[in-house]
Amino acid sequence: MMINRRIPAIEGGNPIRDEFLVFGSPLIGEEEIREMVDTLRSGWLGAGPKTQRFEALFRDYTGAKHAVALSSCTAGLHLALDVLGIKQGSEVITTPMTFAATANVIVHAGATPVFVDVERDTYNIDPKRIVEKITPRTRAIIPVHMCGRPCKMDRIKEIASGYNLAIVEDAAHAIEAWYRDWKVGNIGDITAFSFYVTKNLVTGEGGMLTTNNDQ
Ligand SMILES: *Cc1c(COP(=O)(O)O)cnc(C)c1O
Repeated sequence: MMINRRIPAIEGGNPIRDEFLVFGSPLIGEEEIREMVDTLRSGWLGAGPKTQRFEALFRDYTGAKHAVALSSCTAGLHLALDVLGIKQGSEVITTPMTFAATANVIVHAGATPVFVDVERDTYNIDPKRIVEKITPRTRAIIPVHMCGRPCKMDRIKEIASGYNLAIVEDAAHAIEAWYRDWKVGNIGDITAFSFYVTKNLVTGEGGMLTTNNDQ
């Protein structure tokens, strides 16, 4: 049989795999199970010594000065906007190509999401279109590193510093990512990571914020 890989299976082409690809089926080995049992035996079911160790390892891994473990990436993004003082009347620029939480936290903070379209080849926010959406009410940009591919952070940092905007990165997909010489988590003002079951590193539910800002 001729295999035509150019036509997607959904349009009548041949499927490229035989088995169903499960979205969000984490690898859980004996090591993880041992840690879990150890946690149960320790009695520390809330934030305890393992959370502190996770934060310390995360600081080492990203090179960021601070890492704060949270219940989710959504909680992290919301907290980031809160500590930046983003509230009603503020506008926050982000991308429409993301999980709903990115825009929802802006609405939840009482502010207005302003969408900038993505680049065709990366699905990341197009830096060339950001400036035209900046108004006197714009306070921050939330770039999303889609599928682990970092946004053009040099350009986004230039725009943010030119217009005095904060950068809150949604790095839910991008724990391992680097942009040029910068490790994600150590680029913008605040970066939010997710450890939800479908993400690169899994705790079930969980999130982390990193920042170099002591305040
Ligand atoms: C999963 C995801 C989130 C939310 O992460 P939670 O930890 O589930 O709150 C935010 N942004 C993007 C891009 C995501 O994929």
